[in-house]
Amino acid sequence: MTEWDAKDAALPCESAAERALFKAAYGYFFSPDAAGLTLLERHVRGEKAEGLRAAALVMQAANAELDEECREIGALFARQGQTLACGPGCTGCCFQLVLCTPFEAALIGMYMRSRPELGAFFLTSHQKWDAATKNFRESYLAWAIQRYRNGVDDGTHCLLDYYLACPFLDNGRCRIYPVRPYACRSCVAVSGECRSPTQPGEKPGMHNMELAAYTPHKKAREAALALLWKSVGLEPAQTRPRMLAELVRLWLESGAAAVLKACAAQREE
Ligand code: SF4
Ligand code: SF4
Repeated sequence: MTEWDAKDAALPCESAAERALFKAAYGYFFSPDAAGLTLLERHVRGEKAEGLRAAALVMQAANAELDEECREIGALFARQGQTLACGPGCTGCCFQLVLCTPFEAALIGMYMRSRPELGAFFLTSHQKWDAATKNFRESYLAWAIQRYRNGVDDGTHCLLDYYLACPFLDNGRCRIYPVRPYACRSCVAVSGECRSPTQPGEKPGMHNMELAAYTPHKKAREAALALLWKSVGLEPAQTRPRMLAELVRLWLESGAAAVLKACAAQREE
């Protein structure tokens, strides 16, 4: 486990309590056992009134640990004479639907708050994204959830119905790279098929991001997310996935309560 340095963080800890929280989260992700989760819960409890700040710090710690895992994967491949396909300048996977949690949206929003030029950029690019997606994004999201959660494809959409630049993509670079969500951070590809598809009709970024689902991080993440949902009064099963651009915009404009409301699943009539 690499020792974490507060000065390197995108969202710096502002107090001893925040440093302890971050340390507990970082330690838990490296060693995701029941004791670590209990310790983390103790830190998260009682901080929920802070506009998801505690949750944002937990997400930052999770990101830091996932980056370590990805570095290890890269080193392992290097020892075998192979290189990962991902690298600076590859944006092949930045044109598809990106989902995020409210906790990640809070981290991104806090990062943006201290960078006014980034907020202005996002406002403009979000307007374009909103106009381009407003007529289909809800139905596409519902279709995607059915397809990936339940394996049901009713034919309402196909994967490529959503294929447009992420509103954080700016001339081939991610404007929120240090705080990008798990959906982006966990894409680690070996073959490069995702960057340069060989099948007719395929688009970059849609397939063969081989390693994303196989890191130990994922299991630790599920338990930590369950804890965070509960800390804001929601059971994980009562929530629904939302889009990155939508949640960040909500967080910036209306705050944590609006973001959580958007993520609370509507009751089936
Ligand atoms: S996952 Fe594929 S498309 Fe995305 S950065 Fe890596 S190589 Fe490029
Ligand atoms: S948040 Fe960044 S890495 Fe993720 S899709 Fe958008 S531009 Fe790409």
